[in-house]
Amino acid sequence: MGVLGFTVKRFDTFFHIKNKFRRQISCVYTQNRGLSSDYTNNDSILPVLIVGAGPVGLVLSVLLTKLGVKCAVLERSTTFSKHPQAHFINNRSMEVFRKLDGLAEEIQRSQPPVELWRKFIYCTSLTGSVIGSVDHMQTQDFDHISSPVSVAHFSQYKLNALLIKQLEAIGFTICGHEGLNHRHLAEREILMGHSCISAEPNNNFINVTTSSVKEGKHIENQIPCRFLVGADGAGSTVRNLVGIEMRGEKDIQKLVSVHFLSRELGQYLMYEKPGMLFFIFNPGAIGVLVAHDLKQGEFILQMPFYPPQQKFEDFTSETCKGLIFKLVGRELADINVVDIKPWVMHAEVAEKYLACDNRIILAGDAAHRFPPAGGFGMNTGIQDAHNLAWKLAAIIKGIAPVSILPTYEMERRPIAIFNTDLSIQNFQAAMAVPAALGLDPATANSVHQVINNTVGSILPSTIQKTLLDGIFSLGRAQLSDFVLNENNPLGSSRLAKVRRIFEEGKSLQLQFPAEDLGFRYREGALVPEIDSEGAPVKPEPPTGRRREYIPSADPGSRLPHMNVKLLSEVKKEVIISTLDLISGDKLEFLLIIAPIDSSYRLALTVLKVANEHNISVKVCVMWPNGSVNGDARTNTSLAPWENYVDVVEVRQPSNSSSWWDICKMTHRGAILVRPDDHIAWRVKSAVVGDIRVEMKRVFSTILGL
Ligand SMILES: Cc1cc2nc3c(=O)[nH]c(=O)nc-3n(C[C@H](O)[C@H](O)[C@H](O)COP(=O)(O)OP(=O)(O)OC[C@H]3O[C@@H](n4cnc5c(N)ncnc54)[C@H](O)[C@@H]3O)c2cc1C
Repeated sequence: MGVLGFTVKRFDTFFHIKNKFRRQISCVYTQNRGLSSDYTNNDSILPVLIVGAGPVGLVLSVLLTKLGVKCAVLERSTTFSKHPQAHFINNRSMEVFRKLDGLAEEIQRSQPPVELWRKFIYCTSLTGSVIGSVDHMQTQDFDHISSPVSVAHFSQYKLNALLIKQLEAIGFTICGHEGLNHRHLAEREILMGHSCISAEPNNNFINVTTSSVKEGKHIENQIPCRFLVGADGAGSTVRNLVGIEMRGEKDIQKLVSVHFLSRELGQYLMYEKPGMLFFIFNPGAIGVLVAHDLKQGEFILQMPFYPPQQKFEDFTSETCKGLIFKLVGRELADINVVDIKPWVMHAEVAEKYLACDNRIILAGDAAHRFPPAGGFGMNTGIQDAHNLAWKLAAIIKGIAPVSILPTYEMERRPIAIFNTDLSIQNFQAAMAVPAALGLDPATANSVHQVINNTVGSILPSTIQKTLLDGIFSLGRAQLSDFVLNENNPLGSSRLAKVRRIFEEGKSLQLQFPAEDLGFRYREGALVPEIDSEGAPVKPEPPTGRRREYIPSADPGSRLPHMNVKLLSEVKKEVIISTLDLISGDKLEFLLIIAPIDSSYRLALTVLKVANEHNISVKVCVMWPNGSVNGDARTNTSLAPWENYVDVVEVRQPSNSSSWWDICKMTHRGAILVRPDDHIAWRVKSAVVGDIRVEMKRVFSTILGL
């Protein structure tokens, strides 16, 4: 978060690492240069190689494996990072996790209770006075009307550990050097300690070179793959290798992230002022504390810094402890500083997501990097993986041509651009409180720039640093009790301003239901609809404020959630979400219809056309609330096809709308849902004209046949 700064040195070492990669590749194909001839044997070519075992690479590998696609992961680090970064998992990501063998449930069980993280707290010190607090959870966040699951607060490294557990359960092994001993990387392996350093496409495959260090020696290995996914984070090597540029705002702020443990602080906050984020403003220090887990006493402190006057090296463990004590308002006996890392905040999206005839693909932070305001980074990446997995599976299983892949970029890039704008707006909202307190972070950045541009080349760095520190401490003096109190006219007007920001919901927001569940693809692997004027519907511009989700069955939207009861289960009552009707383990479309003759006829045609194209489709017959029997009618109407499910609506007491009302359609309509829960096509009432011709057009459009 952007707040006034401190000290430190040699920032450049960390942020301007030279591109040490040997060359940027072009997409001119080579013959199988220097590769053993068995690489031309398809069995030794991995269908998908994922670079990066961060949350995005790991989620993608689980999704692909569940869909029956052989893949492996390459990871530069020798161990998994324990530095907590992301911690807010949004609703849509939790829905994706619900289909990963109990992952969502495990996160819910393991995360801290919501009472401990629902608030953001603004204070002068952690043990001092509270300027204000904002509760980010509302009743509807728990009522499960919009979604079968709620958002979660769970550290990224703990999520990665659960994903690894999932991968191991489906047959993955984690290996290092022993893993590639004169053999090819096999499917279901995570190869640690190996960096991707080049990727050369030829006619048959992409030859990926990895570099690792064994007993002090650099070793290179070759891994041939059909598709290469760069899920290798914000500084993506894969992106650099294919020469894809980032577009947007670079270097918005440089920060230091201090990972520390203190049960003493955790216990204190748990009982005195529980919260997820603490914005601390005092004359000695300013920072944002992220309480990853109060019970365990696990925290991250984020502080801005201003190189070259301030240097990263100055943030020693001891300095950080001192700063933490100032922010806490007292010393902590059990503090343990685990790790200190610099990072740079950008707001950028890759100019394209695909390269080399769609065979090299970017996902996650490799494709977009946002300010972490609103927690869109990891969540957007997880949804990239969800969008990409079924498309790769469709290609590898021969159901769709490679030309379906541009729909990945068409769908996901606009979402990343939108989320970038939303994160910037939310970041600016975060700045409103310090600005109201007399600490405009924009001023801090300007002061820093003025020093760099004027005295930067004349004065010795120690004097520049003293100058900057002096100006910053003058700024922080605004936060002294002397100024910031109700009896001081300036302090009281500033505090009133801050209160207004909270009351009007104009401070940093945590939740964005309209964008979280309501994001919609406008074009791509779907049959778009046009509005009454014949123009494509435009998304509402981001506001940086919480807006509620409105269910929609427009093509490109996520299928609305409603609880339904399985009619086939006569002995026990089985209630599931409409989202559960879409299989996570099978590449299958879902057609939802009402039990009426014209819709059964439509379903029969859909099943026949899909079968001709080798596409699996399940039919869901949605019976109105109160129906008790349906199977016999569906069985006869759809014979000889058996891939169907009869369900009955379970209306919520607070929301008595029928399924078709929620979808703003008549019951004569039908909805075709993709394997990633997004609506590919729908007809609001009956299909006009030849159903077979229409359905052939629909599948051809969706899959790019
Ligand atoms: C302070 C902070 C707070 C955040 N909070 C949130 C939040 O609450 N919610 C949210 O959604 N997001 C948040 N984010 C963003 C989130 O952390 C990132 O979006 C997320 O880590 C992206 O995941 P990824 O898998 O794309 O990349 P990464 O997590 O960066 O993983 C990339 C992996 O690739 C490996 N790699 C890199 N280069 C190579 C190579 N050449 N060869 C092999 N392997 C390589 C790396 O070692 C790494 O393991 C936050 C970020 C920060 C900095």
